Amino acid sequence: MKGYEYVEKADSELFSIIKGELGRQREGLEMIPSENFTSLAVMQAVGSILTNKYSEGYAGRRYYGGNNFIDMAERAAMDRAKKLFGVPHVNVQPYSGSPANFAVYMALCSPGDTIMGQNLTDGGHLTHGWKTSMTGKLFNSVPYHVKPDGYIDIDEARKLAKENKPVLIWVGSTAYTREFPFKEFGEIADETGAYLAADISHISGLVVGGVHTSPVKYAHVVTTTTHKTLRGPRGAMIMVTEKGIAKDPLLSEKIDKAVFPGLQGGPHDHVTAGIAIALLEASNAEFREYAKQIVNNSRALAKALKDNGIKLVTDGTDNHMVLIDLTPFGKGTGIFVQEALDLVGITTNKNTIPNDPSSAFYPSGIRLGTPALTTRKMKEKEMAEIGAMISEVVFAVKGYVLPEAKEHRGTYLASFRESIANDARLKDIKKRVVDLCERFPLYPELGV
Ligand SMILES: *Cc1c(COP(=O)(O)O)cnc(C)c1O
Repeated sequence: MKGYEYVEKADSELFSIIKGELGRQREGLEMIPSENFTSLAVMQAVGSILTNKYSEGYAGRRYYGGNNFIDMAERAAMDRAKKLFGVPHVNVQPYSGSPANFAVYMALCSPGDTIMGQNLTDGGHLTHGWKTSMTGKLFNSVPYHVKPDGYIDIDEARKLAKENKPVLIWVGSTAYTREFPFKEFGEIADETGAYLAADISHISGLVVGGVHTSPVKYAHVVTTTTHKTLRGPRGAMIMVTEKGIAKDPLLSEKIDKAVFPGLQGGPHDHVTAGIAIALLEASNAEFREYAKQIVNNSRALAKALKDNGIKLVTDGTDNHMVLIDLTPFGKGTGIFVQEALDLVGITTNKNTIPNDPSSAFYPSGIRLGTPALTTRKMKEKEMAEIGAMISEVVFAVKGYVLPEAKEHRGTYLASFRESIANDARLKDIKKRVVDLCERFPLYPELGV
């Protein structure tokens, strides 16, 4: 395994773990929509000597000496982000998406304020006010929902905003397969005086690739992770828009102060450098093609699933993601499908669907995405193959239903696992998955 010589020498245990994970990534179909394969250039930056530096503060205003090169890296990341997204201000220091969102709260809200976001079990993110998140405990969270057809209920959102007068409204989520109505949310924010924060963590790569509407014209603040469709290292950014500065000329300073010293200490400069490289990569024509292909692949996957008897939430997709509705196979069956897919090397996650008749832990849906497979250069033809295989897996575990009584679930799942481990149909699909993966190398430059 090239590139890990020093790990091998220093720590054979961790070396074999990394090797195992590399094998898993190579030989499986990575279909978790929030995952991707970053470039070797990004990985080298993240694995570089930049990890050695402390640089609390911001470029030109640091608490430590020796930051001239770090300042250049951070400025490069900021300049590229501003240009790519068309925003006047950006903070590239958030450690990840969740802390970025916390910083937005810290900048704009006080504890007890009313906030609004898409309900978690309707596709929203934990940090948009869900009850198990600190954001649901510190603030008065008024969630909006999707309609029975799976589309965001914009009328409900408007009504709730008018009634509850939130300080902050979130738009953007983790399990939504259609265009986000940014314009409508912008109007709701204007009508009610709220700040609108668009969290484009999942779709930022699609936005810069020109295959999803940008929220920059409509929102005051835009947050995004950098490791999903944007294909950078694990990290996040908070952008302030012209509209945001028009509403509050001090908004950029408030955001910066919230990130540091409000929530964080020293920035992860090695990650900042990786973000800068990813942003450069995302600004070229090849990335636009990549983004377009993600969506084409997602549509092809949706079609293949439907052609093979699988029901989808909203009956299709506009973006990188497809949400399977398993209720025709019984409620709470996501766990059986996810585990059977895992066994054949197709990595997905069980997910709630709108009006899920089961629970968040035993949901009735499966969430799938195409960003990682598209990075491996798979196209519509492979999506048709994969859609058919997924459908075969779903039908192979048809009939397994979660026991109503909680105390019976453990033994039931154990016997389910035992029986699928020996299923000849699943073994055959596993072989087909490995064959397919071998045709699309993960990192051809490394020979893997
Ligand atoms: C992934 C995601 C986050 C959180 O990102 P982490 O890096 O996992 O903390 C926040 N919001 C949305 C919409 C996301 O999809």
